[in-house]
Amino acid sequence: MSRFWSDIVHQLTPYVPGEQPKVSNLIKLNTNENPFGPSPKVLEVLKAEAADVLRLYPDPNADLLKSAVANYYSVSEKQVFVGNGSDEVLAHAFMGLLKKSKPLLFPDITYSFYPVYCGLFDVGYEIVALTDDFQINVEDYARPNGGIIFPNPNAPTGRVLPLADIEALLQANTDSVVVIDEAYIDFGGESAIALVDKYPNLLVIQTFSKSRSLAGLRVGFAVGDVDLIAGLERVKNSFNSYPLDRFAISGAAMALEDKAYFEKTRQVIIETREKLVVQLEQLGFDVLPSAGNFVFARHSEKRAVDIAARLREKSIIVRHFTQARIDNFLRITIGTDAQCAALVEALTVVLED
Ligand SMILES: *Cc1c(COP(=O)(O)O)cnc(C)c1O
Repeated sequence: MSRFWSDIVHQLTPYVPGEQPKVSNLIKLNTNENPFGPSPKVLEVLKAEAADVLRLYPDPNADLLKSAVANYYSVSEKQVFVGNGSDEVLAHAFMGLLKKSKPLLFPDITYSFYPVYCGLFDVGYEIVALTDDFQINVEDYARPNGGIIFPNPNAPTGRVLPLADIEALLQANTDSVVVIDEAYIDFGGESAIALVDKYPNLLVIQTFSKSRSLAGLRVGFAVGDVDLIAGLERVKNSFNSYPLDRFAISGAAMALEDKAYFEKTRQVIIETREKLVVQLEQLGFDVLPSAGNFVFARHSEKRAVDIAARLREKSIIVRHFTQARIDNFLRITIGTDAQCAALVEALTVVLED
């Protein structure tokens, strides 16, 4: 606390990201990064950007990347917004589209950055409980609101909603913006981008951090009606004209172009996930059905916090949340086959004593 801080700073509850350990000999299954490196073609274009041209500001509109996203999803460039990670895109959406007199709605178990943005931008919100089996029931969102946001697949549960449910929600909710945060959609489920031409209040947000192996580059984007995008541009151009640097613009555009590498790596991750689910169940875990690059699991006898601590002693880190309802779950990122095998081996020992 400091008397020099603005009033709002005293009231903030900042987001706490998963640990990024300084030592490199750990099996890191705690922040849903991709276990595979970026496409070699992406690394090539990044090297090319490390040149004299860095003297110059990047394109403030990141047109190269917008056009790559527009081509990839068959939408117009005016329906695309890009930002410094999807966290920044989300921040602009909270400020520019979801801050209304009526409350924003989101699930009780969800991405923990949402209440943080509500604190920062002074957005009133109401929490909608997931069902007993940790699903989103879209009918529960049929109440007065100034906006609705949730991830699909949801985080940290991994549970996915079919597109028909999202469409039912949009049909029932036409007067406020619905944001679908699709950070994990490439690992299971259908993108709601297919619905943006039909529903002017739908904004779909995705990231290059998970399925595109580029968490370190910081690139996210949104697709929606031109009016929603224009609103986001107004916020962006009132905050930072150049949120994406030259590396981010070129690297992300190439990541979309190299479809073969993307398909190959995501298929491996999906197959490893399915194998790991079976192995965890054999070890006595109850595993929620996952459409992400992680699983959310609780053990029938051992406490999650103890399992996490024992794994850490064995140089494996997973994520444990202390929030009510999920404090006995572990969120485990899908690593390489070898990393998951090491996890299963460590768990076998940990669960025996
Ligand atoms: C990882 C994640 C993000 C943030 O992604 P960045 O693009 O790295 O900022 C947003 N939403 C959810 C649900 C996530 O899991």
